[in-house]
Parts: sequence; structure tokens; C-alpha cells
Amino acid sequence: MTEMFDVAVVGLGATGGAAAAHLAARGARVIGFEASHPGHPLSSSHGDSRVIRLGYFEDPAYVPLLRRAYRHWRALEAEVQEELLTITGVLHIGAADSAIVRGTRAACEAHDLAFEVLDPGAMRRRYPMFALHAGEVGLIEPEGGFLRPERVVAAHLRVAALAGAVLRLGEKVTAIEPDDGGVTLVSSMGRVRARTVVVATGPWIADLVPELRAVAVPIRQVVAWYAPLDAAATAPGRMPVYLRDEGEAGSYFGFPALNGQGLKVGRHCHFNEPLDPDQPNAPVNGRDEALLDGFMAQNLPGVAGARLSATTCRYTMLPGENFLLDRLPSDPSIIVASPCSGHGFKFASVIGEILADLALRGGTDLPIDLFSFAALKDRRSAEQAA
Ligand SMILES: Cc1cc2nc3c(=O)[nH]c(=O)nc-3n(C[C@H](O)[C@H](O)[C@H](O)COP(=O)(O)OP(=O)(O)OC[C@H]3O[C@@H](n4cnc5c(N)ncnc54)[C@H](O)[C@@H]3O)c2cc1C
Repeated sequence: MTEMFDVAVVGLGATGGAAAAHLAARGARVIGFEASHPGHPLSSSHGDSRVIRLGYFEDPAYVPLLRRAYRHWRALEAEVQEELLTITGVLHIGAADSAIVRGTRAACEAHDLAFEVLDPGAMRRRYPMFALHAGEVGLIEPEGGFLRPERVVAAHLRVAALAGAVLRLGEKVTAIEPDDGGVTLVSSMGRVRARTVVVATGPWIADLVPELRAVAVPIRQVVAWYAPLDAAATAPGRMPVYLRDEGEAGSYFGFPALNGQGLKVGRHCHFNEPLDPDQPNAPVNGRDEALLDGFMAQNLPGVAGARLSATTCRYTMLPGENFLLDRLPSDPSIIVASPCSGHGFKFASVIGEILADLALRGGTDLPIDLFSFAALKDRRSAEQAA
């Protein structure tokens, strides 16, 4: 007789790994599939560091989820006995009325989070490594910091495996066939039955969820690392993680020097270049390098030296730069998880809990209305009308 799993998880990056860990910890019979290896370079869950912050400028409605994510990150660290989340503070730089500074301030005030606005004099004294341009201020949120993506993915999968999850690496799911009793997953190695499936396939989400074709758009992202000219000034204990709002020129994120790898920087959405997830990423080119070199020379002068390396990564963008975490309206045994839009990593620990709730209880008490198919449809219509 064919074995019946409670839940199958397809894709074992940040999202699927967290889902597998939460599901297995609750005693569910779980099977996970990963087409390649977790955190591989064509996925979205690699690259040494991810920003985490509580005062969410994008929408204060995310804050309760973030508080819960922080608790899960600390619990995961205790379980695997490894540092995954490092607090450095996150410094938000921009005009006082820029989306990032104004929005972070609003989220901090709405949720009673610690923050401090730093005028140019205070910025020079406290964070002299950052150049400040006319009209700009700093806003430091002390509870922010960074996560280690490769360690996080490995930690969730270790926890899942120890709790009994079956993890099949190097096995691609090619089709999901729903029926009255659940779903059959067709993979490169055979067929597997499960009551419910969580599809968390990042840039490939539309392969198994055709409803998302033309809605979930994988785009190319580039990040680079620069030699720190002053080791003391760029160490994580001294230099915070930062976001910089450059208005119409976009927003940038950057990190202190970690593990001797240099100062990492990227522009959110880079040049917004759509890509075919089945093709290799286009290599880093002169235009990519010029953008990031120019940013570092202008904004961290005297602190950042030569570019050491640069690499590509992938965002999967959804309308409104939001997430999708919901049952497929046409088939509730299929749960779709697309929490990227370039900012999903920090939520992965709580998203694992949400996906386990959806799979095992059919719903969750956590506030996820923002991430439904209905909300996605509204945002898409609003974007098309604009
Ligand atoms: C450069 C960069 C910087 C970022 N910075 C931040 C940040 O600072 N803070 C933040 O919170 N977020 C950030 N993000 C976003 C965050 O990293 C993503 O939201 C997150 O990694 C998404 O993880 P995922 O598991 O959904 O997707 P992925 O990591 O892409 O995992 C999907 C997995 O599914 C597998 N798969 C695909 N198809 C199949 C199939 N048919 N069968 C089996 N397996 C399959 C793939 O091989 C892949 O491993 C950043 C992203 C990038 C690229």
C-alpha cells in the first residue's frame, strides 16, 4: 500500500525548510522535496546575511509577525546551539520624510518599539563611517540586525530531520495531482501521496501553481562585497546594518564586515530585470559594478575599499511587494507560499508556523489577511489600474 504523508513540502529553501521544521515538531508525517541542494546559488536563500528589523516601514501590520519571528529565531538557536541572529541595530538613512525613515518611525511609534532619530551632528559622532547628504537624518532601531541564511536553512532542515521528516534532496517535483483524498506528487523518482502539500518553490513557484504565471515575477538581484579600510570601524559591534533611501534612485541595504568577507551591499530590486528561473543567472556586468561601486564611494567614503566580489541572486516579486501564504482557492489541499518580494527571509521562522497551521488546522490565529489570494488579486488590480 502507498504510504500516505500528512504534508509534503516542495522546495526546501528558507520557507520550505521552516515549514518542514514546524510540521515535524508537531508530530506530522512530513516529506520534503528539494530539486537541487538547500540554499543553492540559483535559489533566493544564500549569500551570507539577511537584514532583520522590527520597525517595518513597509507596513506596521507586519510588526506582530516579526515579534513572533524573533522568538522563533531564538528558540531555533537554542535548539541547534548556533548563532543565527546577530543584533547590530539597523540604521535607516534618508530624508526625514522619505518612505524608509518616515515609515520606520511610524511603525516604531505604533508598536512602541525603541528608536532614535539622529541629526547630522549625532550621526557624525556616532556613525562617522556613513556620509550624510543635505537634508538627511539617521534613525537607529536598536533591535535590528542580521540573520545567517545558509545556517538558518541548514538548522531548520536538521530540526525537521531529527523530528522524523523525510527529506529528499536532488528530487524535483514535476506535477501535483489533487483528488478527493489529498494529492499525488509526481517527482523525478516516482509518486508520493500526501493529504496536503505546501508549495514553496521560490522563483519556480509558477511551474506548480500556474495561476501565478505573470503574477509572480522572478527578477535578478546583484550584491557585492568591498574591502573594509578600517577593521575597527566596520566590525559588527561598531557598524550597524543599514538601509538607505535614495528616493527615486531606489533604496540600498548593507552590512558591516562579517567573517572577513567585506562590506556587503545591494540595491533593492537592482535594475528590476525579469529572468527565466530555468536559465543560469546572467553574470555580474559592468553596469552592476558601476552602480554598487558608485554607491559605496559616495556613501561610505574612506571606509570601503576595492570590490572583493559580486554575485547574483533572485527575488520573486508579487504585486505590492507583498507575500502570498494561502490555500489555492480552487483546491484547498494545495498551500502556496511565496514570501519573497525581496524581504521574506526575516519572517521565515514565523512563516513556518503559519504554514504548519494552514496544513494541519486549516487556518491560523496569526494575522495573515494581507497574504491571501484575495488581497493579492486586489493589489494586482490596483497596480494595473495605476
Ligand atoms: C540578494 C537578496 C537579498 C535579500 N535580502 C533580504 C533581507 O535582507 N531580508 C529579508 O528578510 N529577505 C531578504 N531577501 C529575501 C529572502 O532571501 C527570500 O524571501 C527567501 O530566501 C525566499 O526563500 P524561499 O524558500 O521562498 O525560496 P528559495 O530560497 O528560492 O527556495 C525555493 C527552493 O525550491 C526549490 N524548488 C524549486 N522548484 C522545485 C520543484 N519543482 N521540486 C523541488 N524543489 C523545487 C529550489 O531549488 C529552491 O531551493 C533577499 C533575497 C535576495 C535574493
